[in-house]
Amino acid sequence: MRLYNTLTKKIEEFKPYNDKEVTLYTCGPTVYHFAHIGNLRTYIFEDILEKSLEYVGYNVKRCMNITDVGHMSSDADTGEDKMIKGAIRENKTVYEIADYYTEAFFKDASKLNIRKPKITERASKHIDFYIKMIEKLLKEGYAYISNGNVYFDISKVKDYYALSGKNQEELIIGAREDVNYDIHKRNPYDFGLWFTVSKFANQDMKWDSPWGVGYPGWHIECSGISINYLGEHLDIHCGGVDNIFPHHTNEIAQSEAYLGHKWCSYWLHGEHLNDATGKMSKSKGEFLTVSLLEEKGYNPLVYRFFCLQSHYRNQLVFSYEALDKASSTYNKLLNKINIIKNNTDGIVEEDVLNNYKNKFKEAINNDLNTSLMITCLYDILKENVNNNTKIEVIKSYDQVLSLDLLNDNKKELSSDLIKYIEDKINERALAKQNKDYVKADLIRKELEEKNIIIKDTREGTKYEVI
Ligand code: AMP
Ligand code: ZN
Repeated sequence: MRLYNTLTKKIEEFKPYNDKEVTLYTCGPTVYHFAHIGNLRTYIFEDILEKSLEYVGYNVKRCMNITDVGHMSSDADTGEDKMIKGAIRENKTVYEIADYYTEAFFKDASKLNIRKPKITERASKHIDFYIKMIEKLLKEGYAYISNGNVYFDISKVKDYYALSGKNQEELIIGAREDVNYDIHKRNPYDFGLWFTVSKFANQDMKWDSPWGVGYPGWHIECSGISINYLGEHLDIHCGGVDNIFPHHTNEIAQSEAYLGHKWCSYWLHGEHLNDATGKMSKSKGEFLTVSLLEEKGYNPLVYRFFCLQSHYRNQLVFSYEALDKASSTYNKLLNKINIIKNNTDGIVEEDVLNNYKNKFKEAINNDLNTSLMITCLYDILKENVNNNTKIEVIKSYDQVLSLDLLNDNKKELSSDLIKYIEDKINERALAKQNKDYVKADLIRKELEEKNIIIKDTREGTKYEVI
């Protein structure tokens, strides 16, 4: 398997530390609000990675944290505390906010067929481990106490900027808002490991520590949870490109200082989903969530399909026009597969099946080339072979693509989607009452484009989502 490694800036042959099992760590959501579909693009890429590793024969042990403490609105130590912001917004405790949005995250992820990692751990549940790490970092001179807080001293590690490939001056110019001119730090990029002096009067989550009552910095959680669950040698660490600096850079610095050796070999980063105005945001413009797409009548898997059409290392621009196009292509694809499914014939031709599995593996090996994976799918549909063989190939591909291509695990319709369909049916009935048959027809077509078929019966209009 060949993957692009942000650390070496090269496509490399992947070799796990231990042949029996690949360890994979993916940074989890900050649970102060719903995930936007940009966030979810990163989780779709990581889901494809995990399933691709399995497809080529590895066992994967994957771990993901849930950030419920310590993440500021800037990824450095500046700005507001995201969890407190969520609590104030909804007049709830940070614990209630964390519970609610953790559940919402997994619900959205499951609608996109993103499998829940085997290990998911709340950051606030591992305070003792972070304290143990920080104690060692202090003892060995990698960290210092200043103004009651514990900071990591980045000048103590070699190649601090290796992952980002930038130097300090470039980063200061490129990310001015992230630079913390906290006078208590020795270097502007030193980062907080433990805070006892909170800027926030209403800091709810705090714990006793050798340095006083306080809370951990954001970066230490991922190092702590990863080392705790996946061991001292991590194979792959992922996130979105915004995580490269400072988050992952800091993770490397503190993990390797703590362990005394190299920690993670492969760093994979997914490019962002942008909207027409640029960066996607939870506070500006339309807050694009999975529920919003459903309210507008889209099957969430159309969004997954939309993401898979482009490579994870390319930026992707979201627009409803582009999503409509993906929806129509996805629905046509399902229709073609449905015809095959309804006309099964022949015995599975093993050599054809294996040949197609190998083609798919080549697409995987080509730095997770999802659009090439989809091309393999179109190729088998066109192939001169019996339908049972085609079905076996499609079934095999869907282990990775997870697009419900054979509709075997049709999900329950969400209440948002049901409401959308019912509203459209009522609107159509009204149009018919007013003898506006053009409008009635347009509504039927609009539903059909989303694979919702309506039938007028004596008992009223019925619908089916195919
Ligand atoms: P957060 O909940 O802010 O910690 O972010 C969760 C994940 O979403 C991180 O891995 C980010 O790198 C990723 N992310 C943030 N914004 C985007 C975006 N616009 N497109 C893709 N991934 C994103
Ligand atoms: Zn992380």
